[in-house]
Amino acid sequence: LVRLRARLARSQSVFGQGLLSLLAADKLDDDAWDEIEDTLITADVGVTSAAQIVDNLRTKVKVHGGRTPEEVRDMLRAELIAHIDPDMDRGVRTEPHGDRPAVVMIVGVNGTGKTTTTGKLARVLVGDGRSVVLGAADTFRAAAADQLETWGGRVGAPVIRKDEGADPASVAFDAVARGVDDHVDTVIVDTAGRLHTKTGLMDELGKVKRVVEKKSQVDEVLLVLDATTGQNGMRQARVFAEAVNITGIVLTKLDGTAKGGIIIQVQRELGVPVKLVGLGEGPDDLAPFDPETFVDAILS
Ligand code: GDP
Repeated sequence: LVRLRARLARSQSVFGQGLLSLLAADKLDDDAWDEIEDTLITADVGVTSAAQIVDNLRTKVKVHGGRTPEEVRDMLRAELIAHIDPDMDRGVRTEPHGDRPAVVMIVGVNGTGKTTTTGKLARVLVGDGRSVVLGAADTFRAAAADQLETWGGRVGAPVIRKDEGADPASVAFDAVARGVDDHVDTVIVDTAGRLHTKTGLMDELGKVKRVVEKKSQVDEVLLVLDATTGQNGMRQARVFAEAVNITGIVLTKLDGTAKGGIIIQVQRELGVPVKLVGLGEGPDDLAPFDPETFVDAILS
């Protein structure tokens, strides 16, 4: 929590502290409420959620009458937590099925942090005493497989790779086959993030999924989203969500943005939970996402 607070220090400026100071104004007239709504939209909360949050807060303020700073903070806290939906299941399924490994597919646009997230997730699992195999299914860039190999060496997980230009699905197949042969707990497949056409993406990820299912099953498809890319990132997320059945979101680079509101927007639009957040480039900078901890961090 301390680390999350420190890492989110920059987010406090716009999103959390900005809202708190606006809500603390003596007179909350229409202009003030508009400004609060604008702040929420600027923080990437999304237009629909911003309007709802303002409506709910307005009603509460009306009912409440006098407002102490503590009351304002509690109201905002409750409202934000409700919008982040504390009841969503945020567990990442990495438990093997008998003698077959769990398989996690990591998808998303290049540069969002897929390979880094694959490495960090492997680190968490290996740290918990699990065995992990990594599949370098981004075969379009040799550098991507090199980068994953560096991570594999760092965290102690073998990396299955092929030559540049090889079929991504065949890499995924080999990684899962290795996982089955070696009685590994979890296989993580780092996929290519080429956002050519929706059908191209659908074909490619669909094929990876099908070959995995010849040997085991796909337990998670985690979409990696760069929190600093705002509405552009949201557009990319929609394309992926239409192309493949996403089970969770990893929001990376939350340490580098003042706009953590994207969490509310992406969950609302895609209907899947943010399960993990990236808070830096290092191996230990991946955290499970917890709505209350997050809201407390941006309001502290
Ligand atoms: P990929 O192309 O999607 O596989 O993206 P990479 O994993 O290569 O990451 C792209 C860049 O983002 C690298 O420089 C990473 O170190 C950096 N990166 C990834 N996750 C985070 C994060 O949570 N915070 C920060 N600050 N940088 C990150």
